[in-house]
Amino acid sequence: MSSSPHVVLPWSVRRTRLPLLSLRCVDCRSESATTGDGRFRVNANGKLLDVWLLVRCVSCDRTSKLTLHERTPVSSLDPATLHGYHVNDPVLVAATLVDPALARRGRFTLDWTDAWRLDTPTERPGGAWPLRVEVTFEDPVPVRPDRLIAHGLGLSRHEVLRRVKGDVPLRRPRSTDFTFTVLSEG
Ligand SMILES: [Zn+2]
Repeated sequence: MSSSPHVVLPWSVRRTRLPLLSLRCVDCRSESATTGDGRFRVNANGKLLDVWLLVRCVSCDRTSKLTLHERTPVSSLDPATLHGYHVNDPVLVAATLVDPALARRGRFTLDWTDAWRLDTPTERPGGAWPLRVEVTFEDPVPVRPDRLIAHGLGLSRHEVLRRVKGDVPLRRPRSTDFTFTVLSEG
């Protein structure tokens, strides 16, 4: 490539709190639930375990359980993970909640509104074009690249579509790493 970018900026997308769950309450029909501080429930029946993640309705506080393990032999669970369930390890709560497999099984989607932020370097080299940006996702927050780029660079979305060359579709939400190049204005 003749115009190989010489400036590479690292951006990262990360959560600022746990996302809510878009999950209909069977009592009050509200469609929003929270994991609150994050609690698991472990039920032992002989050598078999049931493990749930507890969530509660944000309007009526009704608690419901999302199944993580059902009649699972204790011996088949990783001891560190099992310990995490018992002590309500916040890292394990977060990892469990954002695992897409749980949302699929529990038939809910995650509501990431106001639950994440974009970190960009405070120093932005001026006048150095083209600019290469590497976006990494610390958490699987679904974002539309064109909106993220417009926000991160202070450009209009129209300008983004004109000046940004990416290796991914810019209008399709994604939650995995990607890179893009910003061409000079002219
Ligand atoms: Zn409710």
